[in-house]
Amino acid sequence: MAQRIDIGREGTQPFTIKAEGVGSLHAILTIDEQNRWWIEDQASKNGTYIRQEDGSMRRIQMSEIKPMTFLRLGPDNAFGCSFYAKQLVDSGSFLEEHLFLEEKAKEYEADLEKLEKKIKRAQLLSAVIPAVLAFAIMGFPFFKTLILNLGVAEQDVSTYLMSARILVSGVVGGLCRTLIDGNKWKKQLKEKFELFAQCPNPQCSHTLSVSEIHDMRCSKCKK
Ligand SMILES: [Zn+2]
Repeated sequence: MAQRIDIGREGTQPFTIKAEGVGSLHAILTIDEQNRWWIEDQASKNGTYIRQEDGSMRRIQMSEIKPMTFLRLGPDNAFGCSFYAKQLVDSGSFLEEHLFLEEKAKEYEADLEKLEKKIKRAQLLSAVIPAVLAFAIMGFPFFKTLILNLGVAEQDVSTYLMSARILVSGVVGGLCRTLIDGNKWKKQLKEKFELFAQCPNPQCSHTLSVSEIHDMRCSKCKK
């Protein structure tokens, strides 16, 4: 038999919604005879969103969802209300959500470890490349011939070579340091992880830290 749950401040969902920006009847969840889940926005002012695989939230009118689809009603996590669809029929226990978050945290930690190795390799290269270039300029007769061909007097060649060496290692070294921005890379990875790290409790909008996820407990709402 089909099941219908009205979602909103005056909805029939098993938890209260007081969040700003959520309508009295904001959306409707229907579970059909084939046990497929459908959510339909009820022309709400601030929208109904579902989370995509990349972590972004997409505004929908009507969409098929899964019990573990992460939903948001209203403008954003700080003011809206967000929860896993499962809470609409199976409220109170957050075990499945915590297990999902634990998987995400493990993926994040593995990615972070890989990234740290990549940063170390890149930093090593950025030290080696300018040194090799500087050595090449001083060590190979080709560069001396090149400078002589430009019309530089023999006694000034070593000064020119030295300047070229300082210039090249400075520019290349600087370029490497700009390109290898380990902190920026780590920040981007963390931001992507945080798109998934919301507390599963519909009444809480806390972004969980990795250690909270490992403890399976939100420090804000204690769920
Ligand atoms: Zn919480």
